[in-house]
Amino acid sequence: MSDSKNYEIKLKYCPNCGESLLKSSSLLNEYWISDDTAYFCWCSECSWKGEIVEVKRVTAPELASV
Ligand SMILES: [Zn+2]
Repeated sequence: MSDSKNYEIKLKYCPNCGESLLKSSSLLNEYWISDDTAYFCWCSECSWKGEIVEVKRVTAPELASV
């Protein structure tokens, strides 16, 4: 991307325990799904692992009226 000088990892902390994911013992892997940015993370502090996706657009079903 051309704006790589403004590149910033937005996900920095474990969503479970709050420890920094930027520690060398933890794993933070960024990849892309179409326009969305996905992060796979594994926390070395609490062993939580999962994926967090930053979405550009949300598609939600219309709420049913009862
Ligand atoms: Zn953690």
